[in-house]
Amino acid sequence: MFVVIVDIEKCRACGECIRVCPNQAFAIADEDGRRYAFFQGDPGDCIGCYSCEASCEDGAIWVLDL
Ligand code: SF4
Ligand code: SF4
Repeated sequence: MFVVIVDIEKCRACGECIRVCPNQAFAIADEDGRRYAFFQGDPGDCIGCYSCEASCEDGAIWVLDL
C-alpha cells in the first residue's frame, strides 16, 4: 500500500502532480485563499508510479511504500 504525503508549506499549487497522476488522485484545496495540493483518493488509488513525487520541483510530495 502506498501513502502519499503533501507538505502544504512547500506546495505552491502549480498543479503538476494533478497533471501527471494516472489515477487523478490529487486535487487543489483552497482554504481561505491558501491553495495547496492534497491526495483526494482512497489509499488503493495510488499505484506507486512515483510520477507525482518526481514532478514536484518544490519537493513537496513523498510517496511511501508501506
Ligand atoms: S507538483 Fe508540488 S508544488 Fe505543484 S501542486 Fe503538486 S505538490 Fe504542489
Ligand atoms: S505515485 Fe503515481 S499513482 Fe500514486 S499519487 Fe503519485 S502519480 Fe498518482
